[in-house]
Amino acid sequence: MRIVLIGPPGAGKGTQAARLVERHGLLHIATGDLFRANVREGTELGRVAKAHMDRGDLVPDGVVVGMVVQALRVANDGFVLDGFPRTVPQAEALESELLATGRPLTAALALDLDDGIAVKRLTGRRALERRQDDDEMIVRRRLEVYHETTRPLREFYAGRGLLRVVDADASEDEVTARLEAALA
Ligand code: AMP
Repeated sequence: MRIVLIGPPGAGKGTQAARLVERHGLLHIATGDLFRANVREGTELGRVAKAHMDRGDLVPDGVVVGMVVQALRVANDGFVLDGFPRTVPQAEALESELLATGRPLTAALALDLDDGIAVKRLTGRRALERRQDDDEMIVRRRLEVYHETTRPLREFYAGRGLLRVVDADASEDEVTARLEAALA
């Protein structure tokens, strides 16, 4: 199974990706997590990414695509891409990489969530889960970026017959059940 998971910040991509990974034995590739690990380790990639992340903006396509292509090289039995692609050029780069290695996508799962609910969820994240970019101003910017550049990916994947939209305004277990149904 080769899956991309897209959705606005706060939709529960990380939680749901982890569950898909566990149930189906997939590799979890979360670009946000990879960037945060690089920031913690003080790498050059982390330095570049942090400047964008702190503003709620996207890291440039070239940087992200290079990182994902590297991660995909070790994904033999399938994967869940969590938070990638986020732009049409990223989706195109992914498509050519997967085509070149004979591994087309199984599905593009899109989580749907109202902005108001997303803001409430993120600004209310408990201390342990809270991230530096969960400040309300930055959350609003992340949502704006989502609507401008990521949501159009739904058309991209719909055109390829891969899109499955799932309403994420429900409990974590319910959303998992909806995703499993969408994959069945
Ligand atoms: P996330 O953990 O998926 O919410 O990502 C956190 C931040 O990392 C985003 O707000 C972006 O700044 C950056 N990021 C993660 N994935 C991507 C991507 N595919 N393209 C560009 N920037 C990304």
